[in-house]
Amino acid sequence: MAEKRNSAFRYNTGATKVPWAAVGEDYNAQDLLEVVRFMMQGEGDEYEAILDNIKKEVYKLNEIATPPGNLSMGPYVQKAEADVKKFLGSDNALFVANATAGFEIACKYANLGPGDEVIVPAITFIATIAYPLEVGAKLVFADLDPKTLCMDPKDVEKKITPKTKMIIPVHLGGYPVDMDPIMELAKKHNIIVLEDGAHAFGASYKGKKIGTIADFTGFSFHEVKNCTSFGEGGILTTNIPEMKQYLVPSRFLGLDNTRKIPCWLYDVIAIPGKEKPFVTSNSSVTEIQALGLSLQVDRYEDILAKRRAVYNYITERLSVCDAIIPNNLENDDYKPSYHLYLLQIDPKKAGGDVQVLKKKLEEKSVTNIPHFGPLYYFDILKTFGYDVNEIKASCPVCEEAFFHRFTHLPLYGLSDEQIEYMINAVLESIEEMKQGK
Ligand SMILES: *Cc1c(COP(=O)(O)O)cnc(C)c1O
Repeated sequence: MAEKRNSAFRYNTGATKVPWAAVGEDYNAQDLLEVVRFMMQGEGDEYEAILDNIKKEVYKLNEIATPPGNLSMGPYVQKAEADVKKFLGSDNALFVANATAGFEIACKYANLGPGDEVIVPAITFIATIAYPLEVGAKLVFADLDPKTLCMDPKDVEKKITPKTKMIIPVHLGGYPVDMDPIMELAKKHNIIVLEDGAHAFGASYKGKKIGTIADFTGFSFHEVKNCTSFGEGGILTTNIPEMKQYLVPSRFLGLDNTRKIPCWLYDVIAIPGKEKPFVTSNSSVTEIQALGLSLQVDRYEDILAKRRAVYNYITERLSVCDAIIPNNLENDDYKPSYHLYLLQIDPKKAGGDVQVLKKKLEEKSVTNIPHFGPLYYFDILKTFGYDVNEIKASCPVCEEAFFHRFTHLPLYGLSDEQIEYMINAVLESIEEMKQGK
């Protein structure tokens, strides 16, 4: 009879001779081979020959290998969280299904509900506002800082009312928002600040990493961000001392494995919010996602260094063109994560606005995507009774920048040749515009 083993189950039931398996059916060697095939795609005889060799070796593993047991919420998740904490210099980090799920926990902590106001930047991804919209909070759009296109703290100040419950700064493209004035306003008016750090993993502001400044920060590890946990994932951090111990139960429906009710395995708790307790949903992650995150966080300094080098190179090469507004956004206080390259032009000097430039770049086969459209143009806001014209009038910088002045260029995963081609295409397009072509 086998030795006593712990159940590979999410509750600690102690070591027994007959443990409980977490997984119904295990994965096997053939499955692993399919994973290799997925992660390392290729075609041709050489590729198939190498795979065939791997197949032989992997099949031998079937004889001697042990299945992982936990596939969800095990030691790999704990390690990924430890890796992120170390990288950020934070004493907490909760690995969640995606950034949006992390935002939801923060909004619930603030007890956001109907009638409460939330100040968000005029340009961001819909994920920033989805939960506030869902619970009937009123979104108030702050105008943008023309240099960074992030939320302008001066406009935030103008838009605070006694009903303002949250401010959600978004570090667009990885450029840090000017956080000091926002944190000051929040303190003065008793407002919760949630940073949307989806683009900003590794960015810092005045010597502090994004993720260590506000009440909450949500990062995204979706595959389009700077690093990923196999396609989906997020991290939530908090600076609220009372909330730190409730991060784990707030990820999974309030289950508290440190406590038990009589004759049962655990207790279920309501999470103490700012004003009243709240119920959470399930935003658990898998061990494989956690492994994927640890692998990328481990080389993240290199990833950032590469992105930074490309960013600086593009800036330097574009500096010869007087119609391009110099993108000198990095200094001692502001260290971006170089998620997107922000390209801004002076339409007067360029002899046309960014719509013309965008069209020319498309004709030259260069992808450029402004991130994102002003939120107030989406149908969902009209459906919930927002007046587009009124918001438009309150966000003149956003209007001007989006329609006339900016787009984003990619800066990672490109060959040197592609980067040269892209830079030349920008310079040539503006030259053509100047000549009225
Ligand atoms: C990607 C993104 C999000 C959402 O991240 P998920 O992990 O996909 O939920 C939120 N805000 C911004 C600005 C984003 O770009």
